[in-house]
Amino acid sequence: MNTPSLRQWLLAALLLCVTLALGLVGYTLSERLGLKAQADAGARQLELHTRAVESELDKYTYLPSVLELERSVQTLLSGVGDAPIAAVNQYLEGLRERSGSRAIFLMDVNGHVLASSNWRDPDSFIGEDLAFRPYFKDALLGRPGRFYGLGTTTGEAGYFLAHGLRAEGRIVGVAVVKVRLDALEARWQKARLEAFVSDENGIIILSSDATRRLKSVEPLDEESRARLARSLQYYGFPLDELQFSQRESVGPGAERLILGQDDGYGDRRPARYLAQSLAVTDTPWHLTLLTPLKDQRRESIVHGVLVAFGFALLVFLLIARNERRKVVATRLAAREALETANDLLEKRIADRTKALRNSNERLKSQIRERRQAEQTLRKAQDELVRAEKLATIGQMSTSIAHELNQPLAALRTLSGNTIRFLERGHLEVADTNLRTINDLVDRMGRIIATLRAFARGGDRGGQAEVASALGAARGVLQQRFENRPIRLDCQVTPGCVEIEQTRLEQILVNLLSNALDAVESSAQPVIEVRGQVIDDSYRLRVSDNGTGIDTHGRQRLFEPFFTTKLGGHGLGLGLTLSAQLAAAAKGQLSLDEQAGSGASFLLTLPLSAVSNRSTSP
Ligand code: ADP
Repeated sequence: MNTPSLRQWLLAALLLCVTLALGLVGYTLSERLGLKAQADAGARQLELHTRAVESELDKYTYLPSVLELERSVQTLLSGVGDAPIAAVNQYLEGLRERSGSRAIFLMDVNGHVLASSNWRDPDSFIGEDLAFRPYFKDALLGRPGRFYGLGTTTGEAGYFLAHGLRAEGRIVGVAVVKVRLDALEARWQKARLEAFVSDENGIIILSSDATRRLKSVEPLDEESRARLARSLQYYGFPLDELQFSQRESVGPGAERLILGQDDGYGDRRPARYLAQSLAVTDTPWHLTLLTPLKDQRRESIVHGVLVAFGFALLVFLLIARNERRKVVATRLAAREALETANDLLEKRIADRTKALRNSNERLKSQIRERRQAEQTLRKAQDELVRAEKLATIGQMSTSIAHELNQPLAALRTLSGNTIRFLERGHLEVADTNLRTINDLVDRMGRIIATLRAFARGGDRGGQAEVASALGAARGVLQQRFENRPIRLDCQVTPGCVEIEQTRLEQILVNLLSNALDAVESSAQPVIEVRGQVIDDSYRLRVSDNGTGIDTHGRQRLFEPFFTTKLGGHGLGLGLTLSAQLAAAAKGQLSLDEQAGSGASFLLTLPLSAVSNRSTSP
């Protein structure tokens, strides 16, 4: 999440200020409009209640003048005849009852009360001097006397209406009616109306709230206070000032102010009011209507809060919309970037695919070339194999010739000798030779059979006597042994081994033949043959003091066609064939690495069961 920048903080602070300012504006506007509405409604109410007050007063306006019509009153005032005070008192008493007024009394022109409706009461007005009362003075001057004050006898508040009674054109007495205006207060209270009536001195004479009664609505100076005290109009009440505060004029006859209000539990709390005043006709009074502004103020606060909240909501929505736009723009940009990347990727893929296709084509053509090369190679290989086969056939032919040539050479020599012995008549020698020839032919047949067996592989089994096999091998090579003075040292323990006789002879011919070749250039050629039985095996060692075998020769000795013999002498098959024959008979042919000069071959073959039995103790 990003940390808000200074600009964002300032913007937030500004928005907060604007929100508060708008809330204030909303509150002020609402208060103004509400106040106007309250003032209009209040004006109508005020008018209504002022008229009600006027009609309440009007009810009694005519009453004092009614006394002029009463004969007893006229008589009493004129002073002619008996003074019928008692009759006047009774008349006044009856009139008071019928009119619903508080008291009705009659004064002479000097201000003395002559008769009164309350003549029965101990605190009756009769005899009182009320000449100081303004209403008396007015009435005496022929003007309707109107006065609100507290009675000097009872201390009870009342509205006094006085009328100068005339006889023969001059004023002879004054009739006064005292009425109470409690009904008005009770009506206001019932209607939950807060209102009061203030008189010409600014003193509240009627009020829906009793605690406000006889309080001054305007500050009174000491002189006025003394004057009022002297007039006894308010029966010596202190006439405290009504505690207005924050008075503010809001129109003609209208004020906004704070005034103590009874909270219903006996406590007074300051409350806001709209105070509207209207003069009551025919009186110096003013009716003031107090409209509480508590609800209106609460409403204004609600309106202010609503305006602030509405603005805040609007700002929030705008910010949200802006943020959403940003997000959408970011998404669009991201999508465009993605599309661009996608296009780029697709282009790359297309390029790469094209490159791959090209390289594939190249590979295909390479594969084709390789295949062609392979075919060519295979052809060449086939050619080579064919050539090798041909060479092998040639070598095999040579090998066969090699194997057969030696007995054939022996046959040629023997047969030539035999002919000469027969011509000379040496029949025994000829016979011996012929037998040898016979043996040689047999051997040749066996060799051919062996070659065929070699070609076929496998072992047909059979046993061979080592000494006789060795003798047979020597016989085959006899001619070569005779050609040179070679010492052949044979020490062979008699033993029978698990191999076909011809095969053992063939192995021995090969080993002896190689030894003969090796010692060809030796000054004192020696070939040793040692044979002995070790455990279940027969071990035959053929050693010579010839040329020996170099390292290269040792590694390749048993490879087919490995030969060091020149001039087509060697086939390189002798040792391979011999090793294979030994292996086929579960034996082994190996070079004895421990040997000194020359070479030494070790042939190990399993001892035959027959031999085992004969040698066992
Ligand atoms: P060939 O006799 O036809 O060469 P062989 O398989 O019998 O084939 O012999 C392989 C080679 O081993 C010979 O050419 C020769 O170099 C070497 N070899 C075998 N026997 C001997 C030995 N007794 N002394 C020295 N070299 C030998």
